[in-house]
Amino acid sequence: ATRIVLASRPSGRPVAANFRLERETVPDIAEGEVLLQTLYLSLDPYMRGRMDDAKSYAKPVEIGDVMEGGTVARVVGSRNTAFKTGDTVLSHSGWQSYAISDGTNLRKLDPETAPITTALGILGMPGFTAYAGLRNIGKPKAGETLVVAAASGAVGSAVGQMAKIYGARVVGIAGGPKKCEYLCKELGFDAAIDHHSNDFPAELAAACPSGIDVYFENVGGHVWNAVFPLLNDFARIPVCGLIAHYNEGSSVLSGRDQLPAAMRAILRKSLTIRGFIQREFADQRPDFYHQVGAWISEGRLKYKEDIVDGLENAPEAFLGLLEGKNFGKLIVRVAS
Ligand code: NDP
Repeated sequence: ATRIVLASRPSGRPVAANFRLERETVPDIAEGEVLLQTLYLSLDPYMRGRMDDAKSYAKPVEIGDVMEGGTVARVVGSRNTAFKTGDTVLSHSGWQSYAISDGTNLRKLDPETAPITTALGILGMPGFTAYAGLRNIGKPKAGETLVVAAASGAVGSAVGQMAKIYGARVVGIAGGPKKCEYLCKELGFDAAIDHHSNDFPAELAAACPSGIDVYFENVGGHVWNAVFPLLNDFARIPVCGLIAHYNEGSSVLSGRDQLPAAMRAILRKSLTIRGFIQREFADQRPDFYHQVGAWISEGRLKYKEDIVDGLENAPEAFLGLLEGKNFGKLIVRVAS
């Protein structure tokens, strides 16, 4: 069996040496336990936060511990009456090829209803993040303009398509012409703007002639700076992620200070800005599975997965995620 542990904490941008591949024998299971073989590992931006020991909404990964992560796994041994060999489950076993579980927090997946990788993306945590952030905070109305950042990614692509279903005009922000073309041609966004373009703020303004009513924030940094002056009165801003700052640690607090301007606009424009972590809305998950499952089968919601082969390639793929190299929900195929 193989596993990838946190070898050291990064300062700033993580590097390959922050991870270490280890080999071990496949463990035995005790009464009540199941042995899981990882099929797919989800790579997600929040993992950057777990590499730091700063105080956050979740505990950091300790040095020498297996990197945390959501997985789709096959039960290959069971001494737990609730699971049998051959079951496919959603687990949180981390960056390792085998894991032991006592069965708590495992969710059985039915490979007949949806491809099992969707449990890590559109029908999993990222899809639910989009759904919960829109339903509880963004609340787009027909005719309003919604802008979403990291728009071709796991969360952003779902946000934009759901907002279209709710009747909003949707403008996506993404890195590079290929991602932008995908948003308009494949996902039906009304416009897509490349945040690497020299004229990015002006292009965004031109794409939002009636201003912005909902801004689904996934990025921060220069993207927020371009969005900020375009916000309409009473705009709603689900603050979901700030990936542009994840490598900055606490130095972000001393960067070019936009805060006074932001606070003034919050007051004068009566803005509602609200951060959230998706699990706060966990009681809405049954609605989510029902609604989003239906949208997928009706062809109203599409999704794109970026699948990398081999657990040993997880660190490089994760470093790429922090630089926009992924195109779609990033998933590692650990075994088939
Ligand atoms: P994505 O699949 O969107 O991948 C990340 C994308 O972020 C990259 O592809 C890249 O897209 C963009 N990006 C990376 N670095 C930068 C940068 N420096 N500046 C601008 N864009 C950058 O990831 P997810 O959909 O999984 O996550 C999107 C956001 O949602 C993240 O901020 C994440 O932390 C957050 N999140 C929050 C949750 C919550 O509960 N609050 C739950 C899940 C996710 P591009 O090439 O287009 O720039």
